[in-house]
Amino acid sequence: MELAVIGTGYVGLVAGTCFAETGHTVTCIDNNEAKIEMLSRGEIPIYEPQLEDLVKRNVKKKRLFFTQDLEGTIAKADVAFIAVGTPEGEDGSADLTHVLTVARQIGKALTRPLVIVTKSTVPVGTGDRVKAEIAKVTSMHVDIVSNPEFLKEGTAVEDFLKPDRIIVGAESETAKAVMADLYAPFNRTSNRVVFMDVRSAEMTKYAANSMLATRISFMNEIANLCEKVGADVNKVRLGIGSDPRIGSSFLFPGVGFGGSCFPKDIRALVRTGEQHGSQMTILKRVDEVNDRQKSVLLEKVIAAFGEDLKGKTFAVWGLAFKPQTDDMREAPSITIIEGLLKRGAKVRAVDPEASKTAKRVFNDSITIEEDQYGILEGSDALLVVTEWNEYRRPNFKRMKELLKQPYVFDGRNVFEPDTMRKMGFKYTGIGRP
Ligand code: NAD
Repeated sequence: MELAVIGTGYVGLVAGTCFAETGHTVTCIDNNEAKIEMLSRGEIPIYEPQLEDLVKRNVKKKRLFFTQDLEGTIAKADVAFIAVGTPEGEDGSADLTHVLTVARQIGKALTRPLVIVTKSTVPVGTGDRVKAEIAKVTSMHVDIVSNPEFLKEGTAVEDFLKPDRIIVGAESETAKAVMADLYAPFNRTSNRVVFMDVRSAEMTKYAANSMLATRISFMNEIANLCEKVGADVNKVRLGIGSDPRIGSSFLFPGVGFGGSCFPKDIRALVRTGEQHGSQMTILKRVDEVNDRQKSVLLEKVIAAFGEDLKGKTFAVWGLAFKPQTDDMREAPSITIIEGLLKRGAKVRAVDPEASKTAKRVFNDSITIEEDQYGILEGSDALLVVTEWNEYRRPNFKRMKELLKQPYVFDGRNVFEPDTMRKMGFKYTGIGRP
């Protein structure tokens, strides 16, 4: 089939490339000229494991193309995916400007019936709005499908090629057949396509992200209480996770969740609730708990050094909102570092993949370096903010020699408190005595 994917970000680029990998001809469209130029030169604008090789291979095989020309691409497409951003609007709701703009553009470009698939995370009812937007400009038949994406940044390619489930909200039999055929290559061992109506599919995405965010905020509150009562959240985590009704995933406490999805998606669902007179009480608290959690590490620093941090230097390991990505949208590192800077401290930071992003976020207010040990030299403390694997078993002896004071604030519990103290560190984790 000829596929058009509109929006070439984390979702669109991965989805388009993986569909090309199964033999389809895929044209990825973006209105960001610089991005399309980069991709056309074979450069990948984001860091995502495995993606570069896949993109290069499919470009070489002439199955994957990049363009700004939406009109020309839609004219020859069998299926169009909308994968543009749906950022948080001023009132917390999902801003659908990009989605509806693209819908109108598709409508104007239609030369024959088309299956239009929304991959972006969109509030319930958006399928109808996309259809209405298209009907304003053409009478051509379109099939509207909701196919929310569940890939995770950092393992996006792997997730797309081996999905746990493929949610397809579709009304017509034609659209269902097209979607089943498109996903068949990723669905060979057992059928993981779950068909439903469009509204339920749209809701499924928000419900999934909200449940995951709830688990994190829940564990963060348990961790904070563990600290007060002298319990170890890591043991509690193992203790509760072995119950199959609870399960062991997504129970790690830390410095709060960030990223391009959880924060905006829970706020959007709260807003949808308000619009329909249905209070999303739990989710409001999940958001509040998370906001508070982003300051927990900073509070520990203040407890050790006082409010005035002038003359102090802090080394930060990890800036991305989680490992294996260069994405810093809503990253806890931003809250923590801004808090340190506001109190007069100097910050030196490293991240294996997010340094370019970090330079845009912080300008020159902090120094971003390459060497995780170099930034310890003369620093008053180390803060571990993102749990990249390379920070888990570092050279502790060297760390201790380089740090001016052996303070370690571990926001991700990557080290063992007893071992750290035995080595002479002044160590604090999250929720551990
Ligand atoms: P992104 O910001 O990385 O990419 C969006 C792309 O759309 C950008 O390249 C932008 O230039 C392009 N775009 C915007 N308006 C356009 C227009 N009018 N025409 C053409 N291109 C346009 O976003 P993302 O992280 O890929 O997320 C896309 C959607 O998928 C969002 O709704 C998000 O919530 C959802 N989602 C994201 C993830 C994730 O892990 N990032 C996972 C699942 C779902």
